[in-house]
Parts: sequence; structure tokens; C-alpha cells
Amino acid sequence: MSSTRRAASTPTVTIPFPKGPRYGPATERAVLALLRSGRLSDTGRGAAIGELEDAFAKFTRTTHVLSFGSGTGSLMAALHGVRVTPDTGVLMSPMNWISAILAAFHAGSYPIFGDIESTSPNLDPAAVTTATNYSAVLVTHAFGIPARMDALGAATTRPIVEDASHAHGARYAGRPVGSWSAAGCFSLQGDKDVSGGEGGILTTNDRAVYERALTLGHHPHRLDAELTLPELLPLAATGAAYKLRMPALSAVIAHEQLSTLPARTAAAETNLAVLRQVLARLGAPVAVSGLGSGSTRGWYRVPLTVAHPVADPAALFAACRTERIPVRPHYPDWLRSPLLHDRALLLDFWPHLRHSPYNPPDPDAFPNYHLARRQTLLIKVPTVSAPEYMEQVGNGLARVTTSH
Ligand SMILES: *Cc1c(COP(=O)(O)O)cnc(C)c1O
Repeated sequence: MSSTRRAASTPTVTIPFPKGPRYGPATERAVLALLRSGRLSDTGRGAAIGELEDAFAKFTRTTHVLSFGSGTGSLMAALHGVRVTPDTGVLMSPMNWISAILAAFHAGSYPIFGDIESTSPNLDPAAVTTATNYSAVLVTHAFGIPARMDALGAATTRPIVEDASHAHGARYAGRPVGSWSAAGCFSLQGDKDVSGGEGGILTTNDRAVYERALTLGHHPHRLDAELTLPELLPLAATGAAYKLRMPALSAVIAHEQLSTLPARTAAAETNLAVLRQVLARLGAPVAVSGLGSGSTRGWYRVPLTVAHPVADPAALFAACRTERIPVRPHYPDWLRSPLLHDRALLLDFWPHLRHSPYNPPDPDAFPNYHLARRQTLLIKVPTVSAPEYMEQVGNGLARVTTSH
């Protein structure tokens, strides 16, 4: 590229992405205090784990919370908790991180797919109404947009599990995500809005779901102390299957992160309001989706919808990058993954599929999902005050969407 060419492509966004320290002084103090206590592993519900679980219970307004070493582990335990089976699938949208899809296999079942809504990145209640042969529904609040939990609940008699890994702190119709269904799952992986470095949280108001989830990967000391259901008591001395516990170190980090989430959320709300104003003032053909009354979003990503048909999504994405707009790529199209289509590969990892009616998805059967992948830009909104930066992002978005 010549130097004249480079000068001509000076990006619209010149301010670096505004951010504070990922983990602040309070987290450093909490980690140091834990190290000095010498207790990095508790086989029971130790202090660090107990405090995090209690904080999440308060935060999501649920009665039972269980920590895991990953969001994937919490999804697997939640699906086991609601008794998914090898004979029927777990219904979900393909607009998802791959871990949520594979969790259906881990839990001894398999995924079946329904399309998203034309107006949101979330599973369409109409797709739930028409689905057959599923034992549970996995609803992901994709890109922080809370799914329509009332309509989804009305569309099925089967248990719903929420994947709230993009939506920490979001509410639907006034009620926290993770509290609407049989169980909520939150990844605390390092990129998520509440991070323990790694980690996962399961929330539920159902004692039976909690105790079944407990048997999957928690220590016998904790099982012995907490199990009450007669059918689970034989597991008190052994548990079953895996080791999925959260390290105490992750728990103290995540606890600090949870306590600072409201301030970060408030800053992001203000930043998004600035972006909306700039886009409206410039008449840019790109919309920030509104949420219904009482609903608030999570901030893992913010989806923006381009108003006119995008001819070349890859070119639009590249143009955003050139302007230094903080876009993030879409997930790969999992519906075309070899793993979901190759029976030998599947059986190598999940032998229960030998006797299950799993069918690979038809990759072309989900028009709203494919359209949304073309028309949606995913951006990262700063979680510290950044009005001038958002002004520049709005200008950049107006520029690229008008010419693509
Ligand atoms: C990150 C994520 C997961 C997996 O969480 P891990 O903690 O990485 O295991 C699951 N679902 C969604 C939607 C995610 O974003």
C-alpha cells in the first residue's frame, strides 16, 4: 500500500477504545487476602464460593446458586438438572456460542435447532410452538438482548434453561435474566461482563434442579452437607461423573467484578445513548434495537441492524475495521460444522448418540438467522464514560453503512 493511500484512509475513530483496568485494586486486595489465608480449594461450600453464590442469588433474585469451573460446566449441569434425555433433543437457536450447543451432547442429549425472531437475535417462540421431540429448551439471551421469556414460557410445557453468558445484569420485563426459567447459566470466562478468569454460575428457584446439578461435579463433602432428595442421597459419598468446581481464586475475583457491574453498566448505557443520538442526527441507516418496558441489556456485545440489504457483509465488516469502529466478528456458522454432521466424529465423543434419533441440522433451514448474520454489526461499547469516542463511532458507522 502506498503512503498516499494510507493517508487517504485515516480512520474516523482516532480515540483508542476507552477502558479502565480489567481488574482493579480491590480485586488485587481480595486475591492477596485469599492467598494469605492459604485456602485456595474448599471441598465444601467454603467462604469464597459461598459469598459469590450468595451475591449471585441476590443479584438474580433466585433462591439457589451453584458455582462451576466454566459456563459450559454450568450448562451441562443445568441440562442434567432438568432431565434431558438421549431420546429427545434440546431445542435452541443456532445464534449461539458453540459451548451451549455442545452442552446438549455433554448432558447426554443432542441439539435441535429453531430459528430466531425476525426482530431479535433470540429463539422465536413460534419455532418452539412447532417443534417436536424435545425435552428442554435452551434460550440464550444473545448479544445481551433479553429473550421474550414470557412468550417462550407460554410456547412450551417443557423446562427452559437460560444461557445468560452475554447478559449479566440484564432484565426482561423488570425481572433479572437467569430467574425466569428452570435454571439460568452465566459464564464467568475472562471476556464476559463478570469474569473470574474462568468460571460458571447456575441459578435456580427449584431445589431439585439445584441438587441434581450439585451431583454433577461437586465434592462429596458438599453433597453430604446439602443433598436432601431421597433419590439423590445414595450419591452423597461419591457424587457422579465429573469435577466441575470453581477455584476459590476465581470466586473472589468474580465477586469483585459483580460488585462493580452496576457502575460499568451505567457508563455503557450513557455511551449507547450518545451513539443513538449521533446516528439519528446523521440519519444513518443503522438502528440500535430498543427493548420493551422494564427490560435492560447485557454488554458483552451490542447488535446494530443495518436498515438496507447488506450486499457484502465481509466488506462492510472490513470497512468498519478500517474506520476503527469496535466491531467484533459473528460466530462461525455452526450449522455447517463437521462435528454436527459427521456421525463417526460424534460417536467418538458421545457414544449415547448410537441409540438416539439425532439428525444433523439442515444449514439452510433458518432464514431469520442467516439474514441477521448479514444485517447485524456486533460492536463493543465501552464501560467507562466515553462520549467523544461514541461520537466518533457514530460518525464512522454513518460513513460505512451509507456506502455499503
Ligand atoms: C462464553 C459462553 C459460554 C461458555 O462459557 P465458558 O465459561 O467459556 O465455558 C456459553 N454460552 C455462551 C453464550 C457464551 O458466550
